[in-house]
Amino acid sequence: MKIKVLDTTLRDGEQTPGVSLTSKEKFRIATKLDEIGIDFIEAGSAITSEGERQSIKEITKQGFNAEILSFSRPLKGDIDFCLECDVDAVNLVVPTSKLHIYEKLKKTPEELIDLSNNAIDYCKDHGLTIEMSAEDASRSNVDFLKSVYMDAIEHGVDRICVCDTVGILTPDTSYNLFNQLSDIKVPISCHCHNDFGLAVANTLSALKGGATEIHTTVNGIGERAGNTSFEECVVSIDRLLPDFSTDIKIDQIYNVSKLVARLTGVYIQPNKAIVGENAFSHESGIHSDGIIKNSATYEPITPELVGRTRKFVLGKHMGTHGLNSRLNELGLKVNETQLQQICDDVKGLADKGKTVTDVDLQIIADNVLEINHEDRIKLDEVTIVSGNKVMPTASVKITIDDEQILNAGVGLGPVDASINAIKSLDIFRDVDLIEYHVDSITGGTDAFIDVIIKLQKGDKVVSARGTEPDIINASVKAYIAGVNRLLRD
Ligand code: MN
Repeated sequence: MKIKVLDTTLRDGEQTPGVSLTSKEKFRIATKLDEIGIDFIEAGSAITSEGERQSIKEITKQGFNAEILSFSRPLKGDIDFCLECDVDAVNLVVPTSKLHIYEKLKKTPEELIDLSNNAIDYCKDHGLTIEMSAEDASRSNVDFLKSVYMDAIEHGVDRICVCDTVGILTPDTSYNLFNQLSDIKVPISCHCHNDFGLAVANTLSALKGGATEIHTTVNGIGERAGNTSFEECVVSIDRLLPDFSTDIKIDQIYNVSKLVARLTGVYIQPNKAIVGENAFSHESGIHSDGIIKNSATYEPITPELVGRTRKFVLGKHMGTHGLNSRLNELGLKVNETQLQQICDDVKGLADKGKTVTDVDLQIIADNVLEINHEDRIKLDEVTIVSGNKVMPTASVKITIDDEQILNAGVGLGPVDASINAIKSLDIFRDVDLIEYHVDSITGGTDAFIDVIIKLQKGDKVVSARGTEPDIINASVKAYIAGVNRLLRD
């Protein structure tokens, strides 16, 4: 059974606290929704404001494949604004629970039905397609709900929608409710909210109960806890419900999700299904190993299916297998010993609480690959005393030609002090530091510090770098690497 998708990111989604989209942003999202194969786009609520109407008009004049709807109350004023925007259809919202009818509208059920029927007649007279949404349907008396739908159908509505406005259905009650409505002859749609985290589950149950259309928002944004998440619901239908399908181009889902996150400023939790940062990331060693052998071991779907790529996160659970394949992807070939050293270094950083990115990994690998066993000078230890009331003092322990030497120095700052501690040793005589440059590579104060220096001895000039989370270590390493190079050449 083919399921139609109505996306309401631009209406219910925009009602997310703190979200307000410009016309241009709404247009970009609508374009993407049309491209990905959404059947119906609820572009906004025409009554809201002049700006909102401008946005809807921009969308309706584009001639998208999708049917464009505006939200409308069963009032002539609302419908007139929808007509002004030239929409194909209206999402005519009629409350059906006692709570909404008596408390919110201060009307009787009879008055409400009159209002609804008159609105439907008016829409039909003006050539609008109508999807009639029963607001708070899940808390309405089922017989009354049915009678409202039946009346509406007699007056010519094209589709009806059952709204779980405050998200109180469960998969069982959702199934039952839709099952009770299954003798209705027009397409039935399901509009769920995620107050108990059940919106997607309830929507899937609604399909089993007889719904043939679903309402979604991209990333599940919407009032309070949001709506049925488009990406979760559509991929679930595709993968988990063999009897149902949609026309959505699933491989573009991640793109749409990213666009909406960026434009709305509502960022996606890392562990969100399908589109969350971690949805296809693997850290643990055993998992990574399994994934590399056969991705089905620890992934229910491949990331490519939804337009993503797999990621191996480097951390303390990482195994050498996952690490090696990541290094290969970065174009780095290492031997067993080097791999083990890189692995130890990454875990050392992870233990200090740092997330190791690809850039970090590249640096760590470069550092290991650059270890040259022919080097005459090796740094063993550097200790600094520094502060605003003391003269920066450094003591260094280095091995020169297998002899360990301890030396100390003072300077204007800790870097200066540690270089002075080294440079007073014999082997560094005649070496001049002619350039010193510092850069931080990744953001944050826990970033890798990249120190690039130029050294001169006689007419020979070499450059060297040291990249470490610690600026002193980075500087000393760069200095020693440069001198080793000078001695080698
Ligand atoms: Mn809603």
